[in-house]
Amino acid sequence: MSERMSVAVVGAGTMGNGIAHVFAQYGHAVSLIDLSDALLERARATIAANLERQVKKAVLSAETRDQTLGRLELSTERAAAADAGLVVEAVPEVESLKRDVLQEIGRLNASAILASNTSSISITALARGVARPERVIGMHFMNPVPVMKLVEVIRGLQTSDATLEQVFLVTRGLEKTPVEVHDYAGFVSNRVLMPMINEAVYCVMEGVARPDAIDTVMKLGMNHPMGPLALADLIGLDTCLSILEVLQHDLGDKYRPCPLLRQYVAAGWLGRKTGRGFYSYAATA
Ligand code: NAD
Repeated sequence: MSERMSVAVVGAGTMGNGIAHVFAQYGHAVSLIDLSDALLERARATIAANLERQVKKAVLSAETRDQTLGRLELSTERAAAADAGLVVEAVPEVESLKRDVLQEIGRLNASAILASNTSSISITALARGVARPERVIGMHFMNPVPVMKLVEVIRGLQTSDATLEQVFLVTRGLEKTPVEVHDYAGFVSNRVLMPMINEAVYCVMEGVARPDAIDTVMKLGMNHPMGPLALADLIGLDTCLSILEVLQHDLGDKYRPCPLLRQYVAAGWLGRKTGRGFYSYAATA
């Protein structure tokens, strides 16, 4: 795998646009794939706004901003991933959907590394049925991707040493730190994080305190940079629910999703991406 290569990102939502942003910023040609032109244009606008913020903070030059946007191509066709050296899927946390994406792209592209940004689903299971499962791996980027330095790299049972080494190399090239984690539900990050978020939702449901009070306790009392409910809104409440369901299925009832979380998801209150979750976000709907 060359240092600068062609990368395809499937799914242009919260994570996909951040992943595309970072690969393009570090010199890779990126095809960003989603279901409609409208979703893709929204992702491009988000990337442009986030790049602008980096320029204002003097993290990035105006020239790099323009070059980054110039490396980004948008497509509604999976075929746009046919020539990529690395494909990262960031479609919703639904096993059948991820499997479908990986299997089809695996047929279209015989040589790429196929990485999943899944938060909790088994990489071993996702690789099953994909042509050359040894090239399937987890690349779990953190939100917001342009800011967060960690990539949890998940090695499935079939993942080859060469795939792991190449993913470590490309991750370091993005100035991020790869950490190898074995393929257990929720890996390390969400296995440890989600019980805290779930318990914070129980605190809301049981009236222990208001959301802002719960978050203030965790910020000022535990020195967390953001409270668990604000973090849940940032992650997306549907994504939190899907992760908890996987954890409950694989690791037991201590991960049972709080009923209030289910209600918020049923209401379509998914957090920042819909403008309402535990907080309101007037400008983000
Ligand atoms: P999201 O709902 O914001 O975005 C998903 C995108 O995928 C949407 O734009 C949707 O239109 C698109 N999509 C759906 N079906 C598709 C298909 N068949 N082909 C192409 N695009 C399709 O979700 P997200 O928060 O970005 O999560 C994506 C993945 O990243 C999930 O696996 C999630 O668990 C993981 N993840 C999320 C976070 C987070 O903080 N949100 C952090 C780490 C990992």
